[in-house]
Amino acid sequence: MFDLASALRTAILLAGLAFSCGFQFSNAYYSPRNPEREVRVSTRYIILHTTEAPGSSALMTLRDLGEANFCVDTDGRVFRIVDHRRTAYHCGRSMWDGRVNLDECSVGIEVVGYHDRDITPAQYQALGALVAELKFLYHVSDERVLTHSMVAYGAPNKWIPRNHRGRKRCGMLFALPRVRQKLHLLAQPRYDPDVRAGRLINGDPYLANVLYGRGAPPAAAPAVPTTRERVQTIGADGASAGDIAGEEAWRASTLYIFRDGHFLRGSQVPQKVRNKLPPGTRMLVGFAVCGPLCATRRASDVCGARWHLPDTFYLLPGGMLKAGNEISANQLASGTMIFYRN
Ligand SMILES: [Zn+2]
Repeated sequence: MFDLASALRTAILLAGLAFSCGFQFSNAYYSPRNPEREVRVSTRYIILHTTEAPGSSALMTLRDLGEANFCVDTDGRVFRIVDHRRTAYHCGRSMWDGRVNLDECSVGIEVVGYHDRDITPAQYQALGALVAELKFLYHVSDERVLTHSMVAYGAPNKWIPRNHRGRKRCGMLFALPRVRQKLHLLAQPRYDPDVRAGRLINGDPYLANVLYGRGAPPAAAPAVPTTRERVQTIGADGASAGDIAGEEAWRASTLYIFRDGHFLRGSQVPQKVRNKLPPGTRMLVGFAVCGPLCATRRASDVCGARWHLPDTFYLLPGGMLKAGNEISANQLASGTMIFYRN
């Protein structure tokens, strides 16, 4: 049977004209890696990422390494990085529904921003249009528009003995129903097929809850936690470190800040005291450490524009913990440590 819509799509694809009418993008960061990248045989998924870095530096890296097909900047400009038909290296170690190496069967879109912060109105508009165009072109259903955090997985390590989900939180916000609705995505995965099938274990309960833990009505969906909710306190409601973060509690990226202002990484906490951390110990999950600050090493030197974000934290000499949006640069005394999302 002759299928006009399908025939038209094929013709558009073959002509490579898919983006010539109606969709504007810039080639300012077109990657020199294009000629060496294979043309994909099939395209089943669209995978959304957040750069976790400001636009200019992210775009240069994406271009140099060919790490995305598109990048959507905060002002809504769309940059073509790797031709949409070619393989971009955006997923790393990845699995979805038993398939691995998702780069080989997906288009990757980087969105300038952070996994737990809302994107700009201009980005909603541009990303929604770009995703719609790609969905049409490659016959991708809404359930197959995924986030990097859904598909990334980690190899066994010192803390988690098996292949596990939770290697990345990248693009996490694109699993939230209110965000997907604004992108005209009306369906999404309701569970992790690889964890359910036993191919992976869940290495990040917090992430799994954001991706799949909500109840049916979108209005009841949990929002991405606020800054204050992210600073967990041991002993509150009887919670231990393991209750709060599972196996992630003992990774180097989990930080324990004691009342006297000293801190340890999860990997530095001796096994025998793990269940005996003093109540009131503050806990940050998924952070990098930098510092101490001094006269020649300011916060913006260490973490750039992130220095004043609400999810960058400062441990002041004396033990007080302040978020980036609660301090001014000249308040930061020598000896202050910085913890920022990694
Ligand atoms: Zn990513």
